[in-house]
Amino acid sequence: ETEALVARRQRLLGPAYRLFYETPVHFVRAQGAWLYDAQGAAYLDCYNNVASLGHAHPRVLEATARQAAIYASHTRYLNDTVLDCAEKLLSHFPPELSQVMFTCTGSEANDLALRICFAATGGTGLVVTENAYHGVTHLMAGASPSLGPGVNLGPHVRTVPAPRDAASFAADVAAAFADLSRHGVKPAALLVDTIFSSDGVIPGAFLGPAVQATHEAGALMIADEVQPGFGRTGAHWWGFQTHGITPDLVTMGKPMGNGYPVAALVAKPEVLLPFGTKARYFNTFGGNAVACATAMAVMEVIETDDLLANASRIGALMAEGLRSLTHEALGETRQAGLFLGLDILEDGHPSAARAARLVNLLREARVLISATGPKGHVLKIRPPLILTEAQADLFLTATKAALRLL
Ligand code: PMP
Repeated sequence: ETEALVARRQRLLGPAYRLFYETPVHFVRAQGAWLYDAQGAAYLDCYNNVASLGHAHPRVLEATARQAAIYASHTRYLNDTVLDCAEKLLSHFPPELSQVMFTCTGSEANDLALRICFAATGGTGLVVTENAYHGVTHLMAGASPSLGPGVNLGPHVRTVPAPRDAASFAADVAAAFADLSRHGVKPAALLVDTIFSSDGVIPGAFLGPAVQATHEAGALMIADEVQPGFGRTGAHWWGFQTHGITPDLVTMGKPMGNGYPVAALVAKPEVLLPFGTKARYFNTFGGNAVACATAMAVMEVIETDDLLANASRIGALMAEGLRSLTHEALGETRQAGLFLGLDILEDGHPSAARAARLVNLLREARVLISATGPKGHVLKIRPPLILTEAQADLFLTATKAALRLL
């Protein structure tokens, strides 16, 4: 039955999409931290940074349905919902970051952020990390080295290694901007995922001096919060807060609608101004009332249910549990809230093959995670922010059992 579905998918959707896991999973419904297949078997979702409040959250569903029944259309008319949502979103930012532009996906938000930086600086030079992923548009695919050697990064892009410490990262960023300038490309932006997800999940406080170097080069700093945003790291709503910086622009998406497509960028008004006056911008669905009602409900749930506190507490338990396991395949565990990265080794060296095997063994045990990083050897673990202690235990027990089969 799975084989037939895979064949049908390939016939209808073509070859571009990849599926996860040696035996693909097929879900027919989801609730909370659980995904259910056609036979009713439950899988624990530890690969989740979309339905961050848990799947099918009743308060979010209610808000989406209520708004869809009242008014759902394009964004050319005056409407309160988009403004209420903007106000709520901005209440979670420092006062300098005071304007919002809505999009439908993280890729669009990053693409727009970069165009805003082009307009504000008069340059096009962009610095990203060596294994970054920032999106699917032409501009963003060209700024996403993690897409592999088939991607042409273009003459306006330079990459820097993911940070080891703040000083060396700033030096690398400064050197990259200097190299762009030497080649006649005026610096425009530093664009980084503030937890460096695809570079291997690297929580820490690295960005202060790099932001200074960026400004000294005449460029602006874009914090990509698509992965760490909306409380995933537990300590803060946004990853940039861990770094003690105020970016010039912040982009977000994924968990913003808990499964409903909605994304945005937040910016300093003076940064937005040149783009806003030079270019005309319209996004049919970006900031539509249903998306905004949904995002508002998501933010309310994060606030009222104190999901940051749960992410901190359960994330720490999971990290402690992982660090207490003894197996020669296990390297460093890195964790911020419910975002965990675990290095998998063979003979002391990074092993993508072993990481993939563990991901598939856990899938057989009905626990879903994935692997990431430049060498593909980092287990990426991101359960919904509502994860309970019992579910964290279940994850740890399954991991222990999978290690025995490795
Ligand atoms: N930035 C980061 C860091 C991401 O992880 C992703 C998606 N994986 C994106 C941007 C793009 O978001 P979307 O897929 O919603 O376009």
